[in-house]
Amino acid sequence: MDAHPSRPQRRDVPPGQLLIHGAWVDAAAGEQMAVSDPTTEAQITTVQKAGARDAERAIDAASVAFEEGPWGRLGHEDRAKILFRMADLLDERADDFAIREAMDMGMPYTDFRSIIMPHCSGLFRFFAGQAMAHMDGGYRTSYEPHIRILTRREPLGVVAAITPWNFPLALTCSKVAPALAAGNTVIHKPASDTPLTALALAQVALDAGVPAGVYNLITGPGGVIGDALVRSKKVDKIAFTGSTAVGMNLIRNGADTIKHQTMELGGKSPNIIFADADLDAALQAAFWGIFWNKGEVCVAGSRILVQRSIYDEFVEKFAALAKDAVLGDPLDPATQLGPIATRAEYDKILMYVQAGVDSSARLVAGGGAPKIDGKGLFIEATVFADATNDLKISREEIFGPVVPVIPFEDEDDAIRLANDTDYGLASGIQTSDLGKALRLADRIKAGTVWLNTWHKYHPNAPFGGYKASGYGREQGAEALENYTQHKTVWANLGGQ
Ligand code: NAP
Repeated sequence: MDAHPSRPQRRDVPPGQLLIHGAWVDAAAGEQMAVSDPTTEAQITTVQKAGARDAERAIDAASVAFEEGPWGRLGHEDRAKILFRMADLLDERADDFAIREAMDMGMPYTDFRSIIMPHCSGLFRFFAGQAMAHMDGGYRTSYEPHIRILTRREPLGVVAAITPWNFPLALTCSKVAPALAAGNTVIHKPASDTPLTALALAQVALDAGVPAGVYNLITGPGGVIGDALVRSKKVDKIAFTGSTAVGMNLIRNGADTIKHQTMELGGKSPNIIFADADLDAALQAAFWGIFWNKGEVCVAGSRILVQRSIYDEFVEKFAALAKDAVLGDPLDPATQLGPIATRAEYDKILMYVQAGVDSSARLVAGGGAPKIDGKGLFIEATVFADATNDLKISREEIFGPVVPVIPFEDEDDAIRLANDTDYGLASGIQTSDLGKALRLADRIKAGTVWLNTWHKYHPNAPFGGYKASGYGREQGAEALENYTQHKTVWANLGGQ
């Protein structure tokens, strides 16, 4: 498979351990979990299968580091210096991170290097700057002239970041960077299927000089160690990205300890394509909107709404693009769609393909699950035309390279269809009429609206959902709010 000498190669990854209080350790019960490569279907390595006792050790380490350690008392500039070092180390080790993500979850190496890695290091730099600029408070006056009000921004305490398998590194950095910048201590629990970049990021934290106990990593089943984090009194905040079903559980289970929570959950995002759009650009936005990272993207443009007058032409050209999509090894620079990250997801997506075939919609591209060199969890870029918004494939999050294309008549019809979903994560409008674009952007119930584009991200741009897609924001100055709390100090100056 790795025949081309200049292309990145698979590499051996040593077995992973838990990082607790600055030391790499084994799980108390001595159990491991296998990590496998969806392209070769071979085992890559093992990681520790932590249990409740390990979670307690990590919680104690993070709690003691917060209460007694130097981290929260460091000047903002000193914390920022460490975050800048983490950003530099991420960039220096970009190749290793990209190969790990390609092997672990099938993300194309080139996408990771060109898009994900700069975003991840950018998040650390951005929040280092935010800590210096926005962690201080204010000095205010009151009704009474001798009374002054001092406001002070403080960290929350112990933050547990529970992350999914689809953008393992990016969705960890978007939590860890603001959490550390604000002076919190962190426990990271990555998805069991994709722990490899989490191990490398924890090593970056150690090498950058994050003090012992401030950054902890535990790998193991969410239902055990994730649950222990959510229920612990000593964990102050859960920063969660994952499915809406698990998110709802976490909200319930965190209620007894009044947990601060941010919830980045699922989506079924509408991409609205008007007849006046630049058709070639709209086709590209629709193609990458759904098929980037093989559709394993929470903000994928997973419902394509097309104005009736261009519907047939759009479907014909879009199906042709999908049929030409290049499936392959994510380490091959020519690959557009790598393999599906896990066997369970692969089976689930194929179930949705069958639901589409069994529905009133028309399969116009894909639907197959080819092997490459006899192996791999590949699914073709799959398009169902003449779909309606009530179909299973239009309502449920498929989380794969499968998309329904639905016709609409006018602006009101487009908005009605776009908002007719439980979710509200992202959306897009492709049109040459800026007034219409901005008018409709106001009416869409979603946290992100992309106008004449898709998949744009920046550390400065708040990101998060409406409705069942969750609450709280990652990225942007707004994110710091989710990792801090405000204290108000009243001072009597006397001399009234
Ligand atoms: P998931 O099954 O909800 O798992 C997410 C994380 O939660 C994993 O680390 C998992 O651990 C852990 N977990 C599972 N059960 C738990 C429990 N009872 N208590 C505490 N933690 C628990 O989601 P996924 O399948 O990994 O990710 C795909 C989902 O994430 C999709 O719905 C997608 O839309 C969503 N997503 C949202 C965003 C966003 O920003 N809104 C971004 C990306 C993905 P284990 O792996 O050990 O089970």
